[in-house]
Amino acid sequence: AVSIRLHQCAKSFANGTRALQPLDLEIHPGETLVLLGPSGCGKTTTLRMIAGLEFPDEGGRVLFGEDDVTALPIEKRGVGMVFQNYALFPNMSVGENIAYGMKIRKIPAGERAERVEKLLEMVHLQGLSHRRVDQLSGGQKQRVALARALAMEPRVLLLDEPLTALDAKLREAVRSDLNKLLRSLGITAIYVTHDQGEAMALGDRIVVMERGKISQIGTPREIYYHPANDFVADFIGAMNRVQGIVSGDRLLLPNGSLPLPDAGNPMNATQQGQPVWAMFRPEDVQVVDITEADAQCLRGKLINTFFLGDRTRFEIEIGAERPVIAETSRRGWWEAGQQIALRVPAEALVKMVPAA
Ligand code: ADP
Ligand code: MG
Repeated sequence: AVSIRLHQCAKSFANGTRALQPLDLEIHPGETLVLLGPSGCGKTTTLRMIAGLEFPDEGGRVLFGEDDVTALPIEKRGVGMVFQNYALFPNMSVGENIAYGMKIRKIPAGERAERVEKLLEMVHLQGLSHRRVDQLSGGQKQRVALARALAMEPRVLLLDEPLTALDAKLREAVRSDLNKLLRSLGITAIYVTHDQGEAMALGDRIVVMERGKISQIGTPREIYYHPANDFVADFIGAMNRVQGIVSGDRLLLPNGSLPLPDAGNPMNATQQGQPVWAMFRPEDVQVVDITEADAQCLRGKLINTFFLGDRTRFEIEIGAERPVIAETSRRGWWEAGQQIALRVPAEALVKMVPAA
């Protein structure tokens, strides 16, 4: 598998839109790298620069291994691409779609047919070679698009929101298959999505982008548990933020206190008596009946309860600027309006920053 490097790749369009600030990025051989961020942050532009469908502004360079491909068009880069809208030829059969590139490259018919069979098996569409693509479901079409992208044995596989057009259940099934396939192929892959669940499930590493810049690069765990800034913290899951005063090994809040990590913990580089923001995830907040509350608990009033099936979400007013969100898969239930207690273990604190 090949590595990819982007060196100072910026992109401005003719209409003056600055889509990308100068960007440095290294993709390891065989890894699946996910570009994640809200609409318009520059994901597709980055992918298209790697594909050879866009070219970086003056000074930017794109390297595949040691090859400088900056000026090469897409057909000379050895990339396979999959798009959200499939981009299949509607009046051709499944097999013809997959074999199209091989035909152009004059690969003999026998070998073509053999490879098509192998690819169909790989994407679980055995026996559908003669089916017209307009008779396929969305999920099947996307599998054909994937097989077609892999048919030319590309060095790099590029996928731009490939599952967005599928409904939720199917999206999860295809996502799981895709995960297995990418791992077994060991191909260097770049996957664009605005969906954080998809990013977590598929990425060896995730690049979080915001307004044409990289906010953070890391494994799904690093991004989730050590978000580099507020944007990342809020974009990946939800984050509680409470302001309090450091006092000994506790953080004092208007309605109680939270335990802090040990003094030796690097997160605890805070000053006694100083105001700080503490951040923690909703799933780490334990909801406790008020009759069982102790001195370690934070107290508040339940303002909203949402039963979501696999979990319940509670919003609790704790006398601070914003309510605390708690999410639990346990079966406890409290009605809005009740007094309630919360426990947040010290190890749940994701981040503490001095309050201005
Ligand atoms: P994403 O894929 O993250 O949604 P894009 O890379 O498509 O974002 O777009 C980044 C920014 O560049 C957006 O503001 C978009 O409107 C703009 N943009 C993309 N392509 C063009 C183009 N061909 N001409 C002008 N502006 C463009
Ligand atoms: Mg896009």
